[in-house]
Amino acid sequence: MRNLLPPAFVGRVTDMLGPEAEPFLASYDAPRSFGLRLNPAKWSAEAPEFAELMPLFGLEPIPWCPTGYYYAEEARPGKHPYHAAGLYYLQEPSAMSSAELLAPQPGETVLDLAAAPGGKATQIAAKLGPDGLLIANEIHPARAQILSENLERMGAANAVAVNAPPDKLAERFPAFFDRIMLDAPCSGEGMFRKDPDAMKEWSPAHVEMCAARQLDIVRHAAAMLKPGGVLGYSTCTFNREENEELIQAVLRECPALELERTERIWPHLTRGEGHFVAVLRHAGGSENTDENARTRKAGRVKPPSRQTAEAMAQFQAFAAEYLPAMPELPAGEPILFGEQLYWLPHGRGGRFHAGLLEGLKAPRPGLHLATMKKNRVEPAHALALAMPLSAFRGAARFALSSPELDAYLRGHAVQAPEGVPSGWVPVCAGRFPLGWAKLSEGQLKNHLPKGLRKL
Ligand code: SAM
Repeated sequence: MRNLLPPAFVGRVTDMLGPEAEPFLASYDAPRSFGLRLNPAKWSAEAPEFAELMPLFGLEPIPWCPTGYYYAEEARPGKHPYHAAGLYYLQEPSAMSSAELLAPQPGETVLDLAAAPGGKATQIAAKLGPDGLLIANEIHPARAQILSENLERMGAANAVAVNAPPDKLAERFPAFFDRIMLDAPCSGEGMFRKDPDAMKEWSPAHVEMCAARQLDIVRHAAAMLKPGGVLGYSTCTFNREENEELIQAVLRECPALELERTERIWPHLTRGEGHFVAVLRHAGGSENTDENARTRKAGRVKPPSRQTAEAMAQFQAFAAEYLPAMPELPAGEPILFGEQLYWLPHGRGGRFHAGLLEGLKAPRPGLHLATMKKNRVEPAHALALAMPLSAFRGAARFALSSPELDAYLRGHAVQAPEGVPSGWVPVCAGRFPLGWAKLSEGQLKNHLPKGLRKL
């Protein structure tokens, strides 16, 4: 692979790294490292199931992320039913460093400005807990859809996925967030090992274009940070233009920001594809406080419409029957888009509400609860994935190796085990819900969304 590196890239690396360029360039011929991150909302390394997975996947801890593990490539954890159950997220090991350094705290309001496919977003959502709020944004519609699906799989009830350009969000959310993650679109020099095609796009002019775009996005991010708030900036590229020099330009442009730290992960020094992270803090000041008043003017929580209230009441009747021990939803409000009922989380302090999404595309305006059909409620896939087994009235539980589990994941109807009550039940891999089925006359009718079925 090293022979395929663009000569201008090799020249620039040699200038930047001097004698270290040789081991760095040699790393492009070394094997890649693979990582997964446990989802603390569903389980932990203390769970008995983890002890079984550890040797199966060849897991080894990643030093900079307490929930992160290297895995052996041939283990293919993306194919395991626990992946479909949202027990872990596959993420490149060094990419796990950004959210750890951003260090979101439970209950905070956080924006992930460039969030798809959702590695950092799902990591942040888990750290925020049920009182926190994550707005996960992605500018490209198709990628925003993937982001929504990943948030659903991980059961993030505290997250809203939006699809907007950064300037539009900055207008809507001035001085709003406690923390912002900007994992910027970059020239991807750390992606060459994974995706050799990325090399074809690379050129000095592309690096320059990326840096200009990054500065533009950071300006908008800075405007959305509360006084005292923290901005995490990261890239998976190595050049200084998109990293240290970009941060210097940001500090010149935004005097309210102070640099707290920068970190680099190098592929020739650690097991990871490489990452740059900078943590900046808004030093405070008055200019953003006026902006806060503007956000408040965007309106307060309105009571739900009659239709929405009725849909919510129907859902509650459904939940009383099929989810009798459903944990309380986070503070929030129901919203109805056509037939689709969502629960929009407000986060702590209640500054966020449905009015703030008006005019913005939101592929996932909170936890999807149900589809409201004419005379019935169809529970949403996201709901099954966001609930623990104890919430449900009954469940169809299968062993990991059972043919029924595989058949369910392929979209087939399967025979129910003894003792499962009829009607809506989650199908589970062991104790972890994978999705819904409806039991009638001993058969579990498959309600796994078509796009998520195994081929
Ligand atoms: N944070 C993601 C994760 O951990 O899974 C990866 C984000 S990726 C490095 C950068 C993202 O920025 C891409 O999804 C890309 O579509 C998006 N993007 C591209 N141009 C953008 C722009 N002008 N403003 C905001 N985001 C942009």
